[in-house]
Amino acid sequence: MNLTDINQINEILHRHGFRFSKSLGQNFLTAAWVPERIAEESALDEQTGVLEIGPGIGCLTRELSLRAGKVLSVELDSALRPVLAETLADCPNTEVVFGDVLKQDLPKLLAEKLPGLRPVVCANLPYNVTTPVLTQLIEQQCFESITVMIQREVARRICAGPGTADYGAFGVFVQWYCETELLFDVSPGCFVPQPKVTSSVIRLKKRQTPPCEVKDEALMMKLVRAAFNQRRKTLINAASSGLGIGKDVLAQILQELGIDERVRGEVLDISTFAKISDKILEING
Ligand code: SAM
Repeated sequence: MNLTDINQINEILHRHGFRFSKSLGQNFLTAAWVPERIAEESALDEQTGVLEIGPGIGCLTRELSLRAGKVLSVELDSALRPVLAETLADCPNTEVVFGDVLKQDLPKLLAEKLPGLRPVVCANLPYNVTTPVLTQLIEQQCFESITVMIQREVARRICAGPGTADYGAFGVFVQWYCETELLFDVSPGCFVPQPKVTSSVIRLKKRQTPPCEVKDEALMMKLVRAAFNQRRKTLINAASSGLGIGKDVLAQILQELGIDERVRGEVLDISTFAKISDKILEING
């Protein structure tokens, strides 16, 4: 069975009366090298339990099942139930749960369905829910690694460093919890139907400890969001209106840290945000 062969895809989907849904981000892979390479990059073995989000017709699921101890796939579209029953019939180490991944209690699901296995995520994510899904996966901190295909633009933002146009609050959030790596690009021609944009595969490895120390993580993230909400403004102006702190207080903090008062948040690295946040906490007590 070759689930990336367009003739086989059309035949199976047609037989089950399946129609692609744009709102569910349904772009299925039609290039065999892509699911193979995504699975390879996930460094799987018999001890690994993979959570896959959105199996679609099951092409990546099959590649994962060849390498992992077990694959648990969460699929929102129940129209794919008979399709996946057929395409995964010969993969005994796979299980599909039908529902919205955003509504799942993931730690509970892992404990029930992937007990004793090293939990990782591997998926070709639906574009429309990329940010909430990644936020949920990272915040719950229950996965050792997350290897996903997403829109290239979002992938670049996640992996961007200070002083670049792509650097932003979501990237800082992800990099706080994970080491990020941009792996490879996939062109629109590798999917049916073809998306408008290029995709990229990224790998996020859970950090054992944060990249630096900070006294109040939530305050630091608030500062980061304030800085990037008004990224063309100086940090003093953006943080003052975003956090309701006096400009004179912020100016004093920057001076104490030896940072130019005209600095914009977009050039600051995580450890500098952490230092500023600690000073704000000290002053606001
Ligand atoms: N894995 C397949 C592939 O690579 O060809 C399909 C990937 S397709 C980009 C995204 C899949 O995610 C679709 O099957 C879609 O129905 C499913 N999906 C969309 N939103 C979802 C959600 N909130 N929870 C779980 N699955 C979802």
